[in-house]
Amino acid sequence: MLTFIFALALQTPAPPAGSDPRLHDIARGIPPAAMEVTVRKLVSFGTRHTMSDTVSTTRGIGAARRWIKTELDRIAADCGGCLEVGYDRGTLKGAPNTRVTRDVEIVNVIAIQRGKVHPDRYVLVTGHYDSRATDPNDATSDAPGAVDDGSGTAAVIEAARLLSKYTFDKTIVYGALAGEEQGLLGGQQLAKTAKEKGWVIEGVLNNDIIGNSEGIGGQVDNLTFRIFSEPVAVTDTEEERRTRRVTGGEIDGPSRQLARYTHGIARLVLPQMRPKLVYRLDRFGRGGDHRAFNDQGFAAVRITEAFENYNRQHQNVRTEKGIAYGDVPDRADFPYAARIAGINAATLAALAWAPPPPTAVRLRGGVSASTALSWQPAPGATGYRIYWRDTTEPLWTNSRWVGTVTQVSLDGILIDDHLFGVASVGPNGHESLVTFPTIGGAR
Ligand SMILES: [Zn+2]
Repeated sequence: MLTFIFALALQTPAPPAGSDPRLHDIARGIPPAAMEVTVRKLVSFGTRHTMSDTVSTTRGIGAARRWIKTELDRIAADCGGCLEVGYDRGTLKGAPNTRVTRDVEIVNVIAIQRGKVHPDRYVLVTGHYDSRATDPNDATSDAPGAVDDGSGTAAVIEAARLLSKYTFDKTIVYGALAGEEQGLLGGQQLAKTAKEKGWVIEGVLNNDIIGNSEGIGGQVDNLTFRIFSEPVAVTDTEEERRTRRVTGGEIDGPSRQLARYTHGIARLVLPQMRPKLVYRLDRFGRGGDHRAFNDQGFAAVRITEAFENYNRQHQNVRTEKGIAYGDVPDRADFPYAARIAGINAATLAALAWAPPPPTAVRLRGGVSASTALSWQPAPGATGYRIYWRDTTEPLWTNSRWVGTVTQVSLDGILIDDHLFGVASVGPNGHESLVTFPTIGGAR
């Protein structure tokens, strides 16, 4: 049982998580037909290869990004200018025998919806709009990229269209990124921009390949999707590593908390869906733009379909020995992609409505029968929820609403055998990400 250090904590019951009906509307608010229209429009540019034509109005990556910007501008006009739409551009030096053989402009298309309470705190949703054919440097062949990553780009645009109807406490950034197929170049660029501008990023939901429900091995699954996350921040200091060795936390870094949060929202808002956490940075030996954010120390996850179909990725469009190759829209599953996009939108909304997570969460209780937690209050929080679980559990199994206190003692719960965390809760029941405690050292 809980011993409250401050007696005033006894009162207010917590608004249950997910009690805000808007979250459920948002999760169902992206129509499959809207995803399909957006994906087919992206495919209509023939190729969106990073080194393809930038002058034509109908073909190539230049035409594609101008269309994405126009679409986001239109959404901004419909919400009275609630989105700041622009390009995040940079030039990359080319080098022979690489995936960037000549100097090329990397142009991300970005829309920013400023938060009304914590505009300096950011949540991001990203997908890459560039595409490729069989040869990674072939900038002229058709590369429809309907699922890789027209589907993720459509999730970004449709999330903007839907969420622009609401106002949020925190800032949401919608990012259509370029250069992923040439080496995560757009992700690196936006992560660098974010770092330079001092964005306090709570999380990045990177959607890459979310629209195919028939796997190469014949599996058909339009309910499961995967959330990949790195175990701990790659930017942790040597001191943090040394501390972790004796206190635990090897699978509890910020990206992992974001992955669990996304999983929790999915279970709440679309219970027929089966979010699958994968405790790995990305698919075996492969990459995505979330990694570029991780490299800068930001929490970021990859959201992707359950079973990929390699005949439909990075392939020239053709039929060979009766097998149809190519990433064409006719083989995409738009209802499946729309459900995943809806989960993205609901996760962004929940995070952007929640108070900031508690800071300076400290854990004590060695050589004792109970565990004590303390933290700094978060602005706007109406209370806090403590989470804990057995060390071998992948997900938080226990939680307790503790009200407005900033320290608590969990009697009879051994520090040695459990992992702990604290989340802030806002007036509508929206919860922040879980903050994993530090032991002495500052994070
Ligand atoms: Zn991709």
